[in-house]
Amino acid sequence: SRELEGRVAVVTGGASGMGLAVVHALACRGATVAVFDLAAPDPCELAATLSMGEDRVSSVAVDVTDAGQVDRAFASLPGGRLDILVNAAGIAPPTAFEDITEAEWNRVLAVSVHGTFLCCQRALPAMRDGRWGRIVNFSSTAGKTISTAGGAHYTTAKHGVLGLTRHLAKAYGPDGVTVNAVCPGLIDTPMARGLLPEAALERATRSFPVPRVGQPWEVAELVAFLASDRAAYITGAAVDINGGDLIV
Ligand code: NAD
Repeated sequence: SRELEGRVAVVTGGASGMGLAVVHALACRGATVAVFDLAAPDPCELAATLSMGEDRVSSVAVDVTDAGQVDRAFASLPGGRLDILVNAAGIAPPTAFEDITEAEWNRVLAVSVHGTFLCCQRALPAMRDGRWGRIVNFSSTAGKTISTAGGAHYTTAKHGVLGLTRHLAKAYGPDGVTVNAVCPGLIDTPMARGLLPEAALERATRSFPVPRVGQPWEVAELVAFLASDRAAYITGAAVDINGGDLIV
């Protein structure tokens, strides 16, 4: 369906993995989508990859941890209008706790927590003025328990994303803006492939109630639902999508 026709969306981390799948899912439903990522994909290639018209997707090179760059990226949105923000940018170095440098600690928190803060802060005034908005933040099972492959900084960052999500949900609900988080388990993306070789990925997911790795499009379906009118009564939620991994 074209239920997001006329909506303007920003997807951070939209050049790869689940972010890219979200760009596809939103654009398929009629939204116009801007990708905010470190290395902005060529819009022609992006449109070709997604099999969509070039008028549907654009891209801006931006480091979400840099306030100046984030400001410029939001200022470049046509008409200053924004309905949907998906914060998918993230990094997950697998460093053992005692080996985490201060710089790496700061970087991991900066991308997931500070980047989400900066983008939410810039997006919310337009959503509030339009009396409609959807924010979907990427947490993780690491935001509820601990990370299997990433380090303690990653676990800390993904817990932080849930706190920010709940705080904003409460503050902006009366303005017609919902703010939710998704908590994916092991999903087949370049990030997961970089952390776990094929055999380890298979081993790690074999004991799940749904005994396989998740696919980016499956998470994108959830994000697209949360971004739609149909999810108007869901806010402040941290939705698991993990093949049942957390069932005890
Ligand atoms: P990915 O590595 O495929 O994609 C992440 C994207 O974020 C990349 O395109 C990267 O360039 C971008 N990015 C990184 N730092 C950035 C910055 N400072 N500014 C702008 N863009 C930046 O990863 P993915 O697996 O698709 O992960 C998407 C999100 O889901 C992340 O937040 C990740 O932590 C989370 N997550 C992943 C898994 C998994 O199993 N893959 C599980 C749970 C949560």
